[in-house]
Amino acid sequence: MKTILSFFGILYCSISFSQVSLDYYLDANHPYNKEIPEPKTLLGYEVGTWHVSHDKLVHYMYELAKSSDRIHIETTYEGRSLLLLTITSPKNHDRIEEIEKNHMALTETSADQINLEEQPLIVYQGFSIHGNEPSGANSGLLLAYHLAASNAPETLKMLDELVILFDPSFNPDGLQRFAYWANTNKNQILTADPNDREYNEVWPGGRTNHYWFDMNRDWLPAQLPESQARIKTFTKWLPNILTDHHEMGTNSSFFFQPGIPSRVNPLTPAMNQKLTQKIGSFHVEAFDKLGSLYYSEEDYDDFYYGKGSTYPDINGGIGILFEQASSRGHIQESDNGLLTFPFTIRNQLTAGFSTLKAASSMRVELLNYFKTFYEDNRVIAAKNKQKAIVFGNEKDDATTYHFAKMLQRHKIKIHKLKQPLSSEGKQYMPSNSYVIPLEQKKHQLIKAMFTKQSQFQDSLFYDVSAWTLPYAFNLNHSFQSNTSLIGEEVPDLSPPEGSVISKATYA
Ligand SMILES: [Zn+2]
Repeated sequence: MKTILSFFGILYCSISFSQVSLDYYLDANHPYNKEIPEPKTLLGYEVGTWHVSHDKLVHYMYELAKSSDRIHIETTYEGRSLLLLTITSPKNHDRIEEIEKNHMALTETSADQINLEEQPLIVYQGFSIHGNEPSGANSGLLLAYHLAASNAPETLKMLDELVILFDPSFNPDGLQRFAYWANTNKNQILTADPNDREYNEVWPGGRTNHYWFDMNRDWLPAQLPESQARIKTFTKWLPNILTDHHEMGTNSSFFFQPGIPSRVNPLTPAMNQKLTQKIGSFHVEAFDKLGSLYYSEEDYDDFYYGKGSTYPDINGGIGILFEQASSRGHIQESDNGLLTFPFTIRNQLTAGFSTLKAASSMRVELLNYFKTFYEDNRVIAAKNKQKAIVFGNEKDDATTYHFAKMLQRHKIKIHKLKQPLSSEGKQYMPSNSYVIPLEQKKHQLIKAMFTKQSQFQDSLFYDVSAWTLPYAFNLNHSFQSNTSLIGEEVPDLSPPEGSVISKATYA
């Protein structure tokens, strides 16, 4: 009997599944501009019928940008086509440099000169940093289409109020690898059995990039080209909200932050969590309306700043993690019934929409929080008795250089060491050491990188709990209260030159 039931179950789903159409995701009566191409016209299938390959995704985004004056597109890393779509009203595009300048002025002492009422909010939406968590990237096709094509008054208002930095695929290599797996092993008649080859991807899976790195731990070390491109965008804009769309186990539902309250990094302001919760109320409303299961404040934490959903929290923004139960392929049995790929895409799309709705509604409140974060940062830095950190390694110029370069990627200012320093048994020479003045904009971020965390409110952890970066680089460092050792700023670093010590006799 069980066999017959599951047979009918599968049959039912394969029928309904093959009929998935755009109105499963988006309101068919919505006033869409017919000149904007729907995803299907370029993909050759409706979203969710196949896993989008990265090249098709890139192709669609370029076509969207070509047909819409709301979208400007750039490639942020040559070779891998890491995309950055800037989506906002044409009026805002015309003054985009002014918007950026005013936004950054909010982090300075001149912040009061900026009228928050007239300033758009910056939202960074990123999808599928783990490439085998593909519902995010596939939902990005629909969200970008909607933002380009919708002529509804609420969309036009939102595009005036927001500048959306949109990266539909945080991990091109991983997305491509997983799309290949899921599409290659898709059955003519869909199979929901978790033992099917389709749901058991071979190693190395699509989670990582080409080098098999988990890029969602690299926001702080920023060692991979994809991360470096992202940090460049992030530091240029300092977004108010950054969303990070993931997938989790098939038997779960949908998670959004805040995470477990006792596992929030103590450097993150309490107001950050309150605002995350308030943004969460928009997700609640949207998922209730849709009738999809969800949860919050469980499982995940908000502690390690090297994750996409936590890094913004130490930069005056709000980072938000989304986790959707994964269908892994096209349809899979789960504790909650049959889980289809289109269902997972629709949930991600819903969270994308509720984020934008929250961003518009809370715009001035979030801008104010951003401004206050940097005001508080100045006060904390001024009160701190420690005024500088010296770092270096007498015998390893290269590591010192790479560490300094990493700091500069985060727009942390480094200076020359004015005179030789002996501290805690270590020698620092001006030729192979640098100084980080602590009274600077990224004061809290610097603290986050150098903190030696040894006590925790909660003994349980989902994620990384310790990462003191100079230790990770095997560098000596010393906190100093004396500002006289701070030399002139080093705006550009060049790698130390190597040379062959003596002439080889046989090579
Ligand atoms: Zn993930």
